[in-house]
Amino acid sequence: MLEIVIDQNLCCGSSRCVDICPEKAITLVNGKAVIDLKMCDLDGICIPACPQGAISFHEGYVGGCGF
Ligand code: SF4
Repeated sequence: MLEIVIDQNLCCGSSRCVDICPEKAITLVNGKAVIDLKMCDLDGICIPACPQGAISFHEGYVGGCGF
């Protein structure tokens, strides 16, 4: 399943993604952006908004043995 991932090591806490997300899915926690995947609708607006390139699409684990 596709999901948005924010690299905590790259995030500088600019909050640009927080401001731009129409779903209000991203919040700052201890100066780092954290995403609530239940609220995210995968539009990807936050990806180019990040000055650090910390946000990307990621193919998440869906369970099962992989065959
Ligand atoms: S992909 Fe869209 S809805 Fe999801 S966190 Fe980014 S801006 Fe918000």
